[in-house]
Amino acid sequence: MWPNKFDYQRAESVDQALALIGEEGKFLAGGHSLLPVMKLRLSAPEQLVDIGRIDSLRGISADGGLTIGATATHAEIAASGDVQSMCGALADACGGVGDQAVRNFGTIGGNIAHADPASDPPTVLVAAGASVNIQGSEGSRSVGAEEFFVDLFETALEDGELITSVSVPDLSGQKTAYAKFPHPASRYAIVGVAVALSMDGDTCTGASVAVGGATVKAVKCAGAEAALAGSSLDDAALNAAADMVKADIADWLAGDVAYPESYRQQMAGVYLKRAVKAAAG
Ligand SMILES: Cc1cc2nc3c(=O)[nH]c(=O)nc-3n(C[C@H](O)[C@H](O)[C@H](O)COP(=O)(O)OP(=O)(O)OC[C@H]3O[C@@H](n4cnc5c(N)ncnc54)[C@H](O)[C@@H]3O)c2cc1C
Repeated sequence: MWPNKFDYQRAESVDQALALIGEEGKFLAGGHSLLPVMKLRLSAPEQLVDIGRIDSLRGISADGGLTIGATATHAEIAASGDVQSMCGALADACGGVGDQAVRNFGTIGGNIAHADPASDPPTVLVAAGASVNIQGSEGSRSVGAEEFFVDLFETALEDGELITSVSVPDLSGQKTAYAKFPHPASRYAIVGVAVALSMDGDTCTGASVAVGGATVKAVKCAGAEAALAGSSLDDAALNAAADMVKADIADWLAGDVAYPESYRQQMAGVYLKRAVKAAAG
């Protein structure tokens, strides 16, 4: 399969990338989502602007929180000691993306810009209260992860805007986990649940919960959070939270012939319990 013809340009800086990108252009990062959809002719940009060699988009830094460059790969994020200590769920999610080749090429910026509902990082970013840092020709802005993911393959990005980095709070004082039911072929999430728990001894004093895979976008789950907060994470609390999470995602369900909506909704409850148990140890 061959894509339509397109122009290719490589940018050396963010300013150059923003200047080069035209109305019908797309940024090229790892190419692991864009090139397949171009080959299937589901997307036919006339121009690709390669951002893979822009130094300022690379790397991961830790200073009271994480700043993850847009072209940091899943493999780099999974292997980062700073990510493991400040948001272990994100390291786990990136370590479970696809296979080693996908993790070596795929970037966090490309992953969240593409906004595939079955992606792993968006679910953790929503539960973690992360924000997405964006640069456009008119200036820069920061958007909370929950607002960034709008709908199926739809984000808050405007045409020509570039994700420069993702900011993740330091959650080292909380217990985080990501539990995923992976598709047996692609490893994409059929259901993925991320949790961040604040604990005082055996009591959960606050919970943040997000679900992806089962939904058209990563969805924050206020009902499940309320069911967990104030509990000792016993079976009664977990069962209540599992019921609530199914209600939380009811308006956002996604599915297909193999794994229909009702099945994924049910499995979200199962994987919520697994995520909480994994986080609480
Ligand atoms: C076989 C296979 C299995 C996979 N399994 C999983 C999985 O289990 N879990 C999972 O989460 N993902 C999975 N993926 C997707 C993978 O994570 C991709 O890396 C990711 O979806 C896209 O990242 P990329 O860097 O390749 O982006 P690209 O393909 O280069 O770009 C994707 C889109 O994002 C835009 N874009 C890229 N960077 C930016 C930026 N900085 N600012 C604005 N727009 C930008 C592009 O213009 C394009 O529209 C899989 C992919 C494959 C091929």
